Amino acid sequence: MTLLEVRGLQVAYGGVVAVRDVSFAVAPGEVLAVLGANGAGKTTTLMAISGLVRVRAGDIRFDGVSTANDAPTSIARRGIAHVPAGRGLFPSLSVADNLRMGLYGAKRDGTAEGAADIEELLDTFPILRERRDQPAGTMSGGQQQQLVIARALAQRPRLLMLDEMSMGLAPAVVADLFALVADLKSRGIAVVMVEQFVGQALKVADRAIVLEQGSVVASGAPDELSQDDLAAAYLGGGEAPALDVRPAPDRARESLRLSLRGSDVRHLEQVAAERGVPVEQVLEEIIGGAL
Ligand code: ATP
Repeated sequence: MTLLEVRGLQVAYGGVVAVRDVSFAVAPGEVLAVLGANGAGKTTTLMAISGLVRVRAGDIRFDGVSTANDAPTSIARRGIAHVPAGRGLFPSLSVADNLRMGLYGAKRDGTAEGAADIEELLDTFPILRERRDQPAGTMSGGQQQQLVIARALAQRPRLLMLDEMSMGLAPAVVADLFALVADLKSRGIAVVMVEQFVGQALKVADRAIVLEQGSVVASGAPDELSQDDLAAAYLGGGEAPALDVRPAPDRARESLRLSLRGSDVRHLEQVAAERGVPVEQVLEEIIGGAL
């Protein structure tokens, strides 16, 4: 059975082809590691799946339905949650309010069901219960990463995409996050994770794909990947792309704005008023780290 199928995916930023030909499938409850050197196209692949960049060619099917170029909110509602690199928390909102953000898309904020979901998440992440009234930005990097993952789980996803969840974190914290991924798998949630910690990722993953210059150059179960495949995962092959421009945040900002509901906007306005800065600045701080 296939939950997510990506076929012949191609994505370009203007004239720069970032993803050339990527195909893979993920079954329910399966963990797929997406490996590759810097600039290989990993982040762009995840962004295409969640609707944050335009699919130029190929198809993405979730649960048998094509979602290529659907709006990010509609993709999220189908059951795909995306934890971008750099986290994207609301730093001055409390841990509890950040968690509630995960309920908005599914319209479960303010419902008994939503409140029960939050309680369950606080059981799963005891440190978040301890800090529930504290501003999210005052927590350690590892705790913030737990919070973004918990917020994504509040959407009750069937597929969770984790982009560089261990970046910048201490080894002990990273080990806990990988244990969490194994736990999600045991609960039937499929996980697609982009990881620089290749060794650890392969211990948890059922399968891996290695991207090089926008194409899949190797794939298989961890023990099927050769040393050469793994070298490509760290170093890449061929020449580095001539152009290395960071993503323009405009499209992501636009899609975040479109996906905001009235209550999100009121939160943003409140935070902006408290700090005496424009709403745009708060929005930019939130997604800025995600790009
Ligand atoms: P990293 O680990 O460095 O983030 P990655 O494998 O996730 O790498 P992507 O971020 O998907 O790779 O980038 C793939 C290619 O697309 C790179 O050559 C990158 O420079 C280019 N790229 C990414 N975003 C843009 C953009 N907005 N405009 C132009 N080129 C871009």
